[in-house]
Amino acid sequence: MTGMEATQTPGALAHCERCGRQLRVADSRREDSKPFRLAKVPKGVCPECVMTQFLYNTYPVNMQIDIAGPELLLKLHIREAFLMCGVLNDCDLHIDEIDWRRVVENWSLPVKVAKSALNMYRMGDHARQKKAVADAGLGDGLGFFDPPNEAERERRSTERKLPN
Ligand SMILES: [Zn+2]
Repeated sequence: MTGMEATQTPGALAHCERCGRQLRVADSRREDSKPFRLAKVPKGVCPECVMTQFLYNTYPVNMQIDIAGPELLLKLHIREAFLMCGVLNDCDLHIDEIDWRRVVENWSLPVKVAKSALNMYRMGDHARQKKAVADAGLGDGLGFFDPPNEAERERRSTERKLPN
């Protein structure tokens, strides 16, 4: 196989930096593996935690999970979705390595989150927005942060009632 390289500490014991699960450094890895790559040294996160980081930073699935709760991952055909979209086609990680129950159980552990042009949503945005709306005395769920504008709110809520 091309692109394989030996790791620096094959078989070395390590613990996932996020959930503490015991892991071992692989013997070798694909140098061009993406979007995730095996570690060469005993440092990094387990398959479930790297998947969690990926989901936290992938719009719009992060927004859907934030609103519906992580249990959504157990209901969705998430394995099939990953196989169909091919995002792991060039990756050391195989989708069947993921224990989705562990992903859900550990969902609330800290995750490195980036808000970027590719990820316009951060976990908790939904709750923060709802709170901001309530704090502003709006409470109509339209998500306005501006001072109340009755005409505009009325127009929007009328639009929302129209069938698609
Ligand atoms: Zn982990």
